Amino acid sequence: MKTKTGAFVLPGDALGVTEEYDPAEWTFDDDGKIRSLVAGTVSLDSKNKRISIVPKTSSPAVLKNGDVVYGQISEVRGQRALMRIGGIKDNKRGLVTNFSGGIHISQADKGYVAKLTDEFRIGDLVDAKVTKIIGLDNVDLTTAENELGVVKAMCTNCRAYMKQINKKEVLCPRCGRKEGRKISSKYEG
Ligand SMILES: [Zn+2]
Repeated sequence: MKTKTGAFVLPGDALGVTEEYDPAEWTFDDDGKIRSLVAGTVSLDSKNKRISIVPKTSSPAVLKNGDVVYGQISEVRGQRALMRIGGIKDNKRGLVTNFSGGIHISQADKGYVAKLTDEFRIGDLVDAKVTKIIGLDNVDLTTAENELGVVKAMCTNCRAYMKQINKKEVLCPRCGRKEGRKISSKYEG
């Protein structure tokens, strides 16, 4: 790989391969290729086999592993719920990019989950933690912690926000429908 320390790169630029280097700050592993998440200059650490980027701006608002984000569920497929990320919790940086995240069924709750539609539905507002940066605007998320999961559930029947009635269920005050959710300890209502 020809990448050199000090080279200026843009988001998505290829920097190296994971067989030779570990992707470090502001980079991500794109199926074996290391790419930059941000515009900045390359920093190659040959001794420790790490590639990182020194961002051009002082504090770009980009997600990293461990960030707790909030967002809205946009789709629930068989094994994966998709979420549009609105921003980082308790953080005023905001997000410059339109990130979306995926919650795999194995990451929805601590125990075994039989049906993802008993955990999330379209329109739900959810808190989740970033576990992996997959690409420029795509991350893997988990909600398998008490304070993570649905904070506001949207009724699949009438679109009203629902009230929590026990650890796993919410009730629609408008139409009376009862549904299951992965409910956060911070559920609102
Ligand atoms: Zn309803």
